[in-house]
Amino acid sequence: MEKRQELYSGKAKSVYTTDDADKLILHFRNDTSAFDGKKIEQLERKGMVNNRFNAFIMEKLAEAGIATHFERLLSDQDSLVKRLDMIPVECVVRNIAAGSICKRLGVEEGIDLEPPTFEFFLKDDERGDPMINEYHIRSFGWAETEHVEKMKALTFEVNGILKQLFLQGNMLLVDYKLEFGLFKGEVLLGDEFTPDGCRLWDCDTREKLDKDRFRQDLGDVVESYELVGRRLGLAFDPVAQD
Ligand code: ADP
Ligand code: UDP
Repeated sequence: MEKRQELYSGKAKSVYTTDDADKLILHFRNDTSAFDGKKIEQLERKGMVNNRFNAFIMEKLAEAGIATHFERLLSDQDSLVKRLDMIPVECVVRNIAAGSICKRLGVEEGIDLEPPTFEFFLKDDERGDPMINEYHIRSFGWAETEHVEKMKALTFEVNGILKQLFLQGNMLLVDYKLEFGLFKGEVLLGDEFTPDGCRLWDCDTREKLDKDRFRQDLGDVVESYELVGRRLGLAFDPVAQD
């Protein structure tokens, strides 16, 4: 499948149309951003590592019964996905307090959240992705009520699957962000699941293995993402081309 027109270029990926109106190509770039795009760097090999990581996780989720947009890997930095009508809302689940919830609520980083907590954010970089609730989503028409319920249920279902998967690699899934979209009326998991959009800590040392390494200038960002993949059994073998 060939790229046709660039549809959108985001902070980390570019999105292309294909000859099939229902399919898009996601191109994972090396660009790495934090703080709503205020800190941007190019990290060598990150596009490849995240593309492979995302494919691995999306396949695990599909095996576990989660409907996703992912179709197949096309090359080191490209994946074929179903074209979704994206819902402009980010769904975040937190198992352990870290990041913005600590600042917002003054809670200590590292405390267990039992039950895990859920937050919605509006996808709007200019406004710093503000936190919103279900009433905002309904009042402003960002998604239908049944789709909101589905996104919440799927996000929690993903938590059960991935918490266990990362635990097998001796890692704690601290928190993560998911995006969903509609495909022929059905809510599918879209975008990506990579260490750019979640927090992962080593179970024994609680060392940060995710994008906080970039946010906090801890170094070895891509090396760490790769280590996470390898701990899950991802070999990063070259992608077989058509
Ligand atoms: P951002 O837009 O947050 O800077 P990216 O650089 O990752 O993020 O850009 C990817 C864009 O593609 C995002 O806006 C995301 O919502 C969108 N997207 C992801 N998956 C799909 C899909 N299957 N169909 C349509 N758009 C998608
Ligand atoms: N996240 C993301 N994109 C965003 C905002 C958050 O992928 O635009 C992820 C982030 O990496 C973390 C989780 O969602 O795993 C919760 O993020 P938080 O609200 O703590 O914000 P942060 O302090 O990370 O900006």
